[in-house]
Amino acid sequence: SWGSLNDKNVYEWSSEEEEPDGRARPIQVLLVKDDHTFELDEAALSRILLSEEVRDREVVAISVAGAFRKGKSFLMDFMLRYMYNHASEHWLGDASEPLTGFSWRGGSERETTGIQIWSEVFLVDKPDGRKVAVLLMDTQGTFDSQSTLRDSATVFALSTMISSMQVYNISQNVQEDDLQHLQLFTEYGRLAMEETFLKPFQSLIFLVRDWSFPYEFPYGQEGGMKFLEKRLKISENQHEELQNVRKHIHSCFTNISCFLMPHPGLKVATNPNFDGRIKEIDGEFINNLKILIPWILSPRNIDVKEINGSKITCRGLLEYFKAYIKIYQG
Ligand code: GDP
Ligand code: MG
Repeated sequence: SWGSLNDKNVYEWSSEEEEPDGRARPIQVLLVKDDHTFELDEAALSRILLSEEVRDREVVAISVAGAFRKGKSFLMDFMLRYMYNHASEHWLGDASEPLTGFSWRGGSERETTGIQIWSEVFLVDKPDGRKVAVLLMDTQGTFDSQSTLRDSATVFALSTMISSMQVYNISQNVQEDDLQHLQLFTEYGRLAMEETFLKPFQSLIFLVRDWSFPYEFPYGQEGGMKFLEKRLKISENQHEELQNVRKHIHSCFTNISCFLMPHPGLKVATNPNFDGRIKEIDGEFINNLKILIPWILSPRNIDVKEINGSKITCRGLLEYFKAYIKIYQG
C-alpha cells in the first residue's frame, strides 16, 4: 500500500543493496560518472524487468526528463500515488499525507546525471482487456558546460529511445535553448537507431512548470497545444536554424503535446520544511494535477512501447536498453 513507502530513508539505499524489506524505491540504473563514462546497473535493471509477473507483459515506459531542481521528482511522486491508488477517483488521498517516493526535498539530492527507475513495475488493465506493465523513469541532466551537455544528451537520447512517452519538464516557458537541447538529444537518439520509414519516437509532452501567462494561454492541455503550435510554427521569414529545429522535432515524434502547469505556491517552492502535503499546495496546481496525471497515466491513455512498429515486452526493453547503451559506450 501507499503507506508502506512512507519512510524518507527509503531512497537512500544504494542500488547494489538488496531491498531488505521489499519496499519499492528509485533505482539508479544509468549513471554518468565524473570521467564522462556511462555505468549501466544491468543486474538491477534485470531484476526489475525480468521479474516473473512482468517480463512477458507489453511495457508502457513513462519518462520524465529535464534539468535538476525543476520539480520532476515532486511530480513523479504524484504519479506513484496515482498508480498505488489504482487510478481511483480519489487517488490524491488525504490532504495531510506527506508525499514520498522519488527524493525531491531541496538539497537532499546528489546531482547525478542519469536515469532512475522505480523498482516496482505496475500491472494495469487496459479497457480492451489487455494487462500491461507500466515503468516509471526519472531522467536528469545538467547543461552548464559542453561536457555535461554531451553527457545529458546521451542519457536523454537513451530515455527517449526506451520510453513510450517522454515528458520534457521545463520551467516557465519553452525557450529556444529548450528546443535546441531537444534537437540535440533526439539527434543523438536517431543516429543510434536503425533507419526506418517510421518516426523514431512515440509521444512527447512539453510540460511547462510555473506557467505565468494563463490569460494568454490557459493552464492545461488545450492552452498548451495552442501555445506549442505557436512556438513550433515554421515560417518563411524565420532564420533557417530556427526552422530546422522545428522540422527536426516534428519529424521525430508521432505525438507532440504540451501542458501548462501553474505555480504550486510559495510553500512548495521555498519552505524547507514542506513535506508535500496537498493542503499546502495551491488549489490551482492541484486542480491541474488532477487533469495532468490521469491524462498521462490513465489505463485508457497509456500506450505500449513500440520499436519499428512492434510492441515491446519488459524482456524486450531490457535487450534494447543494453544494445543502445553499447552504441554510446563505443
Ligand atoms: P527535480 O530535481 O527536478 O527532481 O526537482 P524536485 O522535484 O526535487 O524539486 C525541487 C524543488 O522544487 C523542491 O523544493 C520542490 O518543492 C520544488 N518544486 C516542485 N514542483 C515545483 C513547481 O512546479 N514549481 C516550483 N517553483 N517549484 C517546485
Ligand atoms: Mg529529482
